[in-house]
Amino acid sequence: MRWEGGRRSENLEDRRGMRRPGVAIGGIGVLLVLVLGLVFGVDPQQLLQIAAGPGGGAGAGGQAVERELTPEEIRSRDFASTILAFTEDVWTEQFRRAGERYVPPKMVLFAEAVETGCGTAPSAVGPFYCPVDRTVYLDPTFFVELERGLGGSRGEFSQAYVIAHEIGHHVQNLLGYTRLVDEKRRTLPPEEFNRWSVRLELQADYLAGVWAHYGQERFAFIEPGDVESAIKSARAIGDDRIQKNSRGFTSPESYTHGTSEQRTRWFLEGLKTGELSTLKQLFELPYEEL
Ligand SMILES: [Zn+2]
Repeated sequence: MRWEGGRRSENLEDRRGMRRPGVAIGGIGVLLVLVLGLVFGVDPQQLLQIAAGPGGGAGAGGQAVERELTPEEIRSRDFASTILAFTEDVWTEQFRRAGERYVPPKMVLFAEAVETGCGTAPSAVGPFYCPVDRTVYLDPTFFVELERGLGGSRGEFSQAYVIAHEIGHHVQNLLGYTRLVDEKRRTLPPEEFNRWSVRLELQADYLAGVWAHYGQERFAFIEPGDVESAIKSARAIGDDRIQKNSRGFTSPESYTHGTSEQRTRWFLEGLKTGELSTLKQLFELPYEEL
């Protein structure tokens, strides 16, 4: 992926290297690495439940610089802020064309644990978007884990896909889809609600594809092999693959993100067409046809 030299976003805050008194995560964080380490796009409700452990409560004023960032951390910051800027440029333009205004999200880089508008979260939950404070939270060591879990390097474009998926959740928040699914959460039994979660997640994958479509038109950042690497990532984080790897069998009624095949297909569809009218379809198609 070609990104170096691109504009960097001002909406990125790097909290690594900050001392964060009061944030304590115990063994549960380690456990969650196994369960959630390969899933991104965690549900904020889930976050509140798993992260409501002891020790929270330090305000932003409790931060103090503890150490210098390593060269690797500086590179991951530059990468994240450049990808964030690519998403700002693409979505500002797409919203403008639709007669709307794009309000960009914030992004926070953190290590170990972070306080968010959706509760305190350990790194183990993976990258996520909190709709309450309209912020994407990312511990870049997730990418190292992702690549290790996938058995080798997948390249920066698949990392950009992960970020673009989270930004997709912000776009859904602006367009009202997040609220719609929140209502389903309150009114439906869990198994029925899961189907709406799958729709929302596949739509975020589709939005990541749409972003790549227009980003490529404008910035030509995709290099040979990039799309294949993103496909491998999308396959690796399908619910069927994760369940099969972690416990040996699958139960489709518990899927919350979609299968490997679905995630890949909707990402590629967005990448190919860039068609925003399809967003509605993802909420209207019979579940079996997704
Ligand atoms: Zn997600």
